Amino acid sequence: MKILLIEDEIKLAGFVASALRQAGHLCEHFSDGSQGLEAAMIGEYDLVILDLMLPTLDGFEVLRNMRNFKNKTPVIILSALSDTDQIIKGLDLGAIDYIKKPFDLNELLARVRAVQRRQTDQFSPLLRIDDLEINVLTREATRDSQPIILSNREFGILELLMSRAGQVITKTQILDKVWNVDFDPGSNVVEVHMYQLRKKIDKGFETPLIQTVVGRGYTIKGTLTKG
Ligand code: CA
Repeated sequence: MKILLIEDEIKLAGFVASALRQAGHLCEHFSDGSQGLEAAMIGEYDLVILDLMLPTLDGFEVLRNMRNFKNKTPVIILSALSDTDQIIKGLDLGAIDYIKKPFDLNELLARVRAVQRRQTDQFSPLLRIDDLEINVLTREATRDSQPIILSNREFGILELLMSRAGQVITKTQILDKVWNVDFDPGSNVVEVHMYQLRKKIDKGFETPLIQTVVGRGYTIKGTLTKG
């Protein structure tokens, strides 16, 4: 799933983002309520994990604004506020779940899986461009109906490129969304994974789908269809 994490404790956010990525999700992180709300409104996320005590705009207001603007993305609140009144307020504002800090990362991941299962019915997991198709739930990829075996990172990169088909995705964006938040940007790890990914996706096909945009990043050509 594509998950937005709004949390101002940087160290905690790093742990949570790492764990979500290791579990195969894409995770974007903001540590400020207003920026987080803006991202939630435009980012087309499958889930928002929301802290309550945040700079500029608290979590209750982020959630209230999302619902006022008809944004229905599921929200899990993650907060040190543990009074029953706060929990009731969060759930009444439309949160799907409320996890009290301190929490166990494995419990958070299990609750994320529960959201994922609830969404499966309405959610279409297939992304398709040309003859390339991926299933973001089973994490399977095929081209011309032939299965392609991808590592978790390769799948993450491909999902990112496909979900933003036609846009140029920079190396920094790939590092940020598929790797840990604190990954060394000087590393050539993206290039290495892109080389492997392109070999698996494009080698032997007449039309290469993944393109390098010199000095800027990578893009995938074609029109995205879902379902
Ligand atoms: Ca906080």
